[in-house]
Amino acid sequence: MADCLFCSIAAGDIPADVVIETDDVIAFNDINPAAPTHVLLIPKRHIGSVAELEAGDSDLLAALFEVATQIGRDLVGGWRLVTNVGPDAGQSVFHLHFHVLGGRALSWPPG
Ligand code: AMP
Ligand code: ZN
Repeated sequence: MADCLFCSIAAGDIPADVVIETDDVIAFNDINPAAPTHVLLIPKRHIGSVAELEAGDSDLLAALFEVATQIGRDLVGGWRLVTNVGPDAGQSVFHLHFHVLGGRALSWPPG
């Protein structure tokens, strides 16, 4: 999708610090980390948010969770998988992404 930051990262047009890449998913370090480990997981295909997922996306969703688990299982002391939906929830990039956060104690609830 034109003018989408994460589509540009998925296409390799904008560099990212890639952690894991599969056929359908890329995981890269957040440019402004909120925790010692802060990785973003995105589908390479443009989807605006989890609110736009459709029934046919179940394999893609499973692939995203598989990569999340690969990252999370190396994190001592727990980790969090979160996605923001809409500006009021803190979504600032409108291409589906999950945050994997860990490496420190995480408070709950988030603000
Ligand atoms: P959200 O606010 O949930 O939409 O999350 C967007 C995330 O993307 C934020 O945590 C930003 O720090 C991160 N971000 C923005 N631009 C980049 C970039 N070029 N490379 C990596 N992470 C980015
Ligand atoms: Zn996109």
